[in-house]
Amino acid sequence: MAGTYPERLETTAALLRQARTVVAFTGAGISTESGLIDFRSPGGLWERYRIVTFQEFLDSEAARAEYWRMRRELIPALLAARPNAAHGALAELQRLGKLQAVITQNIDGLHQAAGSTEVIELHGTNLRASCLSCGRSWPIAAVQARLEAGEAVPRCSGCGGLIKPDTVSFGQSMPEQALTEAFDWARCCDLMLMIGSSLEVQPAARVPLVAAEAGSNLVFINRTVTAYDHLAEVCFSEAAGRVLPDLVRTTEIAGPNE
Ligand SMILES: [Zn+2]
Repeated sequence: MAGTYPERLETTAALLRQARTVVAFTGAGISTESGLIDFRSPGGLWERYRIVTFQEFLDSEAARAEYWRMRRELIPALLAARPNAAHGALAELQRLGKLQAVITQNIDGLHQAAGSTEVIELHGTNLRASCLSCGRSWPIAAVQARLEAGEAVPRCSGCGGLIKPDTVSFGQSMPEQALTEAFDWARCCDLMLMIGSSLEVQPAARVPLVAAEAGSNLVFINRTVTAYDHLAEVCFSEAAGRVLPDLVRTTEIAGPNE
């Protein structure tokens, strides 16, 4: 739907009021306003570092050292990032009973930091790291301290196994339970708010498609166009940090049970 900004807000607020089950699906775009760059964007980390696949990480000490050099640069930015107005508005919608779950492609933990619960992390989290052999796990800050103390490839203090952040690397399979939960929500929701994803990374990008196929309304809040904009009832190209707080206010004005 085209229309002015206030018209699109009203239409979306009406969809929110009618919906019984609302789910948000978020990508890197929601966190750029927290100062976190989209890794795929120009100037992003992935332009300056080669991508180390999961298999390379397992096979080669040199690849592991390369991987951790990139992480050492990335981790302080992730630890310093704070939730922005968009994260806050989603948490507020949940408190109002107008949002049941957040499915995210992000690994930054900012939805939980804003107060959201029922957050499904499709690509894992960068806030913890685990031993690939024994499963022991640490806050990422503890691993960062070891990197900064000069360790090139940190190993498990318990069994000597390889440590890796709890994120899904290229070539590593997606967390099966998270994926199952995401598609379950997609099939049962009647409104999905898709925020800040290019919908290019599979299989996560299929989540909004499955929702649409199951009869859910879609609202896209995204700075760029996607291949699936035609499926959305409403598209916003305005910043999520503006749209979502406005949406909370517009929805509240008429009351939750209009
Ligand atoms: Zn271990």
